[in-house]
Amino acid sequence: MAEECTHDCSSCGAACSSRQEAQDMTEKLNPYSSVKKVIGVVSGKGGVGKSTVTSLMAVMFSRRGYHTAILDADITGPSIPKAFGIHEKAMGSDKGIIPITTHSGIDIMSVNLLLENETDPVIWRGPILAGTVKQFWTEVFWNDVDYMFVDMPPGTGDVPLTVFQSIPLSGIIVVTSPQDLVSMIVGKAVKMAQMMDVPILGIIENMSCYVCPDCGKKHYPFGESKLETVANEYGLKILGRLPIDAASSAACDNGRIESVLNPDAEAAADELEAILK
Ligand code: ADP
Repeated sequence: MAEECTHDCSSCGAACSSRQEAQDMTEKLNPYSSVKKVIGVVSGKGGVGKSTVTSLMAVMFSRRGYHTAILDADITGPSIPKAFGIHEKAMGSDKGIIPITTHSGIDIMSVNLLLENETDPVIWRGPILAGTVKQFWTEVFWNDVDYMFVDMPPGTGDVPLTVFQSIPLSGIIVVTSPQDLVSMIVGKAVKMAQMMDVPILGIIENMSCYVCPDCGKKHYPFGESKLETVANEYGLKILGRLPIDAASSAACDNGRIESVLNPDAEAAADELEAILK
């Protein structure tokens, strides 16, 4: 070992006897599947709109002609099937578990498509939760997918960590809201992504303001955004800001997310598409 060793083999090219190569812990995709790019959608805590943003991005990408999929890795709070109005159960086949395809052609896998009752709570310990997410990657038949969006479990605990390690993410999107302790939460997401060697594609601020439908004036019920400062601090790209939008929320809660017209989400999808191309 060199005297000046920092014990960080990733930043050192020396072939010494103590060298430790980073372990590749990614799981193998089902042999019948093909997924070109996988985008993780993360947030520091629940309720900021992570699932809404995941769904909106998938809808926008699908409208652009890409074969899009959503892997719902938020096992204890699965809200993707509800947003798309899916109540069917996923079935098995000789190629693996077949995801449910939405009206507009988005393939979805979520624990709610496997539970007998979608209102049954998932009361499982960490390793079982993480194992389920891995199975969604290894045992589901993802047929020729261009872009897969992964609705990640919130936070930086055991399950998000396993998802980061087992699924080869092309990058992540961080979703924040103005009432978040933005700097700290973004800082944690940035560090986790860096430790996992996953690029951060950018940040989306959700519920950034409320636009009065009568006069068009913007109001900031959660306080003025600090997003610009935080993005500069960590050198991150702002993909977009989504205002509080009653129509998108109602559509999401009523299973009609595919009918949403949301120019702000469209603009964020433009930015994301440009980065991913
Ligand atoms: P998370 O996945 O972070 O827990 P969700 O996406 O499930 O959060 O959103 C929580 C709630 O907030 C849902 O009822 C959703 O419809 C609503 N919501 C999310 N984003 C918006 C928005 N921009 N405007 C209005 N309501 C929103």
